[in-house]
Amino acid sequence: MSEIVVIGAGPAGCAAAIALARANRRVTMLERTAEAQESVCGEFLGGDAVALLRGLGVDLPALGAVRLRGAQAATGRHEATAALPFEAYGLSRRLLDAALQQCAQAAGVRLQRGVAVPGARRLGEGWEVAGLRTRHVVLATGKHNLRGHARQPGLGAIGLKLHLEGLDLPPVVSLLHFAGGYAGLQPGNGGLANLCAAMTGVPPGSAAAMLDRIRQGSALAERLLRDARPLWARPLAVAGVPYGFRQQGGVAGLYRIGDQLSVIPSFTGDGMAMALASGLAAARAIAAGQDTADFHADWRRRAAGQMRLAGAGAWLMRAMPRTFVAGMATPLAAMAMRGTRVA
Ligand SMILES: Cc1cc2nc3c(=O)[nH]c(=O)nc-3n(C[C@H](O)[C@H](O)[C@H](O)COP(=O)(O)OP(=O)(O)OC[C@H]3O[C@@H](n4cnc5c(N)ncnc54)[C@H](O)[C@@H]3O)c2cc1C
Repeated sequence: MSEIVVIGAGPAGCAAAIALARANRRVTMLERTAEAQESVCGEFLGGDAVALLRGLGVDLPALGAVRLRGAQAATGRHEATAALPFEAYGLSRRLLDAALQQCAQAAGVRLQRGVAVPGARRLGEGWEVAGLRTRHVVLATGKHNLRGHARQPGLGAIGLKLHLEGLDLPPVVSLLHFAGGYAGLQPGNGGLANLCAAMTGVPPGSAAAMLDRIRQGSALAERLLRDARPLWARPLAVAGVPYGFRQQGGVAGLYRIGDQLSVIPSFTGDGMAMALASGLAAARAIAAGQDTADFHADWRRRAAGQMRLAGAGAWLMRAMPRTFVAGMATPLAAMAMRGTRVA
C-alpha cells in the first residue's frame, strides 16, 4: 500500500510528491498522459516560481529557459513598458513538466504514466484510487475535475495557447488587449514564442483566426506578430477556467492543490507559483497531520490578497484597458507585480 497517492503530475502534483518523498514518505504519482505534453499556459515563470523550482531541483537556464527582463502592455495605439521587479523566465510547459517529473522520480516517487484516474473512493480509513489502496490522496488534476470530486463551477473563461516561429522578440512579456480578452506573448526556449490568451465569448477556430483577432487589438500586437508562423493549425484550448475559485471545506484525507485548490487570473497572477507553493504546503500539512478542511481554509486565507489583486488587474485589463496600460508606466505596476506573488 502506498502511503500517499498524488493524482496528476503537473507543477502542483510534482512539488507535493517531491517534498513528501524527501520526507521519506512512500508516494505514488498517477499521470494520465504517456509523456509530458504542452498545456494551455502563458509559460511565464515569475520570481516565486523561479525560487520554488530551484528548491525542487529544476535548473531553468540549463533547460534552455529564456530570461525575461521586462513587461509591456498595449491596447489600440496605447503602449507602456516596465522592468520586471524579479527574476523571470519563459519555458515550454512540456519541458518544465518533464523536468519536474524527473526530479520527482529522482527523489524516489513512483510515477505511473498513462493512468487516467476515473475517481477516488473511500475505503475504511483510507482511499481506493485506480486499484491502489492509500492513506491520503493529493488531488492535483489541475484544470480537469475528478469524477465525484468536481470543483464548484466558476465564471468559466476560455484559455488558448499557440506556439509560434519566425519572431525575433525582445526578452519581454507583452500583455495584449483584444476584443473579448487579452493575451500574453513572450519568447521561449528553442527560438519559439508562446502566445496565450484568456477570453470570453466565441473563441477563434483556427491558429490564423486567433492571430488575426489578437493583431486587431493593438498596434503593438500587429508589429510583434507580423511574421508569426503558427506551429499548430489550431490553438490548444481549455474551456470553463474558473478564475477566482478557492476551495472551501473538503473531504477528510483528500488534499486539493494547484488549480484544484485555487485558480488565480492568468497574466495578472502567477498560477504556477501558486501550484508549486500549494503542493509544498500540502506536504507540510500531511506531515503535521492537519485536517484537509483546515488546510484548504489556511490556503484560502494565504491566497486571499493575491487573488483580489490579480482579479482587479484582470478586470481592469478587460474593462478599462487604457487605464491598465497607463498604470504600467507608473511605480504601481511593480507594486502590483510583487503583490500577486505567493512567497
Ligand atoms: C490561459 C492561461 C494562461 C496561463 N498562464 C500562466 C503563466 O503564464 N504563468 C503561470 O504561472 N501560470 C499560468 N497559468 C496557470 C497555470 O497553467 C496553472 O495554474 C498550473 O498549470 C496549475 O498547475 P497544476 O499542477 O495544478 O495543474 P496542471 O498543470 O493542469 O496539471 C495537472 C496534471 O494532471 C493530469 N491529470 C488531469 N486529470 C487527470 C486524471 N484524471 N488522472 C491522472 N492525471 C490527470 C494532467 O494530465 C496534468 O499533467 C495560466 C492558465 C491559463 C488558463
